Amino acid sequence: MHEDLQKLMALQALDLEAKKLRDEMAALPKHVADLDTKAKAIAGQRAVVLDLIAKEEALRRRQESDVKDQQAKVAKGKQKIGNAINTVQVTAFEHEIAFAEKEISRLEEAELESMMRSEELDAQKTVADKALTAAESTHKSERERAIATIAADKIAVAAVDVQRTAQRATIGEDALSLYDRIAKAKGTGIAEALNQKCTACQMMLRPQRWNDIRERDHTEMTTCESCGRLLYYDPARDSPQRKTVTPERTESIAAQIVRGL
Ligand SMILES: [Zn+2]
Repeated sequence: MHEDLQKLMALQALDLEAKKLRDEMAALPKHVADLDTKAKAIAGQRAVVLDLIAKEEALRRRQESDVKDQQAKVAKGKQKIGNAINTVQVTAFEHEIAFAEKEISRLEEAELESMMRSEELDAQKTVADKALTAAESTHKSERERAIATIAADKIAVAAVDVQRTAQRATIGEDALSLYDRIAKAKGTGIAEALNQKCTACQMMLRPQRWNDIRERDHTEMTTCESCGRLLYYDPARDSPQRKTVTPERTESIAAQIVRGL
């Protein structure tokens, strides 16, 4: 193996670690903001329920007041009957009373319906209260965790960057610039060749290239013909029965997609 390959493997591990830390630092504020948005959305839904509860209560207050008005009309009608001077008047007052009583039963029925809606709304409020408490608590704890994690990541990434700089200083300029160029384009610059495949892009290596890379005295920088990554070969990782070169197998596009899931 080329002496720089081993060093590039170590560099890549550090690069990936630094990227992981930086990605986490970038993702956490968004994660916390999403939780805040979620809690606010639940608070908004809860406010709608509270508003509907208040409206039902106001409706019932009006209904109760209307019932009292109609009851007064009934009482007044009965009084009028007592003072009536002929049957025509009695009939008219009885008619007024019947109308008021009918109105009372209509209002009481509507009040009952409103109470049922209120019961349903109270149940919704209980659910919303619980959901809001949970969402706010999650937001608070995740916010605290994010602050602590970001602080720790900052320290960790600074330490990894020091190691990266030191590691880069040990690697040859050509190998390093090749690695940097591929890593910038592909995310990683070096990949293991295993079972005649590039483990990064999964493409088969041509038999000659596969044979070359496994030569004990192979010191060339070999790249994957498909993705361009530098390839390294670890004999300890390769299973003996697979060391014989098998003819290239073309994989269907569907199989590639399934494997990529
Ligand atoms: Zn590849």
